[in-house]
Amino acid sequence: MKIDILTIFPDFFRGPLDFGIVRRARETGLVEIVIHDLRNFTKDKHRTVDDRPFGGGEGMVLKPEPIFECVDSLGIAAREGRLGREGSDQAQGAGKQSVILLSAQGRRLDQVLASELSGLARMVLICGRYEGVDERISEHLADREISIGDYVLSGGELGAAVIVDTVTRLIPGAVGNAASTRQESFTAAAEVALDTAFAGEGPFGFCSGQVRAPLDSVPSSTCGSGGLLDYPHYTRPAEFRGMAVPEVLVNGNHEQIRRWRRKTALAKTLRNRPDLLEGAALGEEDRKLLAEVKGEGSEFRV
Ligand code: SAM
Repeated sequence: MKIDILTIFPDFFRGPLDFGIVRRARETGLVEIVIHDLRNFTKDKHRTVDDRPFGGGEGMVLKPEPIFECVDSLGIAAREGRLGREGSDQAQGAGKQSVILLSAQGRRLDQVLASELSGLARMVLICGRYEGVDERISEHLADREISIGDYVLSGGELGAAVIVDTVTRLIPGAVGNAASTRQESFTAAAEVALDTAFAGEGPFGFCSGQVRAPLDSVPSSTCGSGGLLDYPHYTRPAEFRGMAVPEVLVNGNHEQIRRWRRKTALAKTLRNRPDLLEGAALGEEDRKLLAEVKGEGSEFRV
């Protein structure tokens, strides 16, 4: 995937994209990230990127010209006739590109959207600053506006780094064990069902073999998240400052471990994000486990 980031602070990205999975993905050529300094697309000697708002009001607004010119230089035409608005068939799917404006007013980023974006061939991320960007960017250039949460940041750069990170790890090959990105918090049931068989033993736990299931089936209490939060993880030492790893994880009974993991995932979701339970694909066993959790109340601590 090719990723272009448009910003007035190109140095901001020295660091955030140079570690771990994103760095490896860049080094192996899975992603190519190019940072574009919007000041290079200005025409005046002061390299002006902002101006006062029409109609008066607070602060400054990023001008449209440098942003349009920068996107033009990438060989991407203005939106009309190129991509439809977010949600259209054209704007999605492998081999496609998307011009994304980072905005507090955009669609909130979640795992479903990240997964959708990971299928793109090219992603252009426009970082706003000051009071925001001239609305013509949203109206005529970007095909999506994305927010990373319901709060206001001083600029789109942090949001761009967040999108790059979460999308990159979903590109096949970026994470060593692809199945692990399907078992994490928020992963939709449909994606868990796509997992091919896997089985692995590690410190304090075992995830039982999981076979490819039909898309419409629910994960029947597997290790996969199925839309829930992830189950708790532990590693060595088995006891640390008087805090012991749950006994079930060291007893080697794979069925008990699987059941415990699903139950703790349900309990943690109920405690921290009960809203997720509404959209989660719960099987028969899940419902029983959830009833157990509710019955045990505070006795069942995660
Ligand atoms: N006046 C804008 C509003 O009230 O919605 C806020 C502008 S903000 C100070 C400046 C820039 O930061 C925005 O143009 C956008 O690019 C970025 N930004 C702020 N909050 C964001 C969020 N939650 N997600 C993504 N980008 C955000």
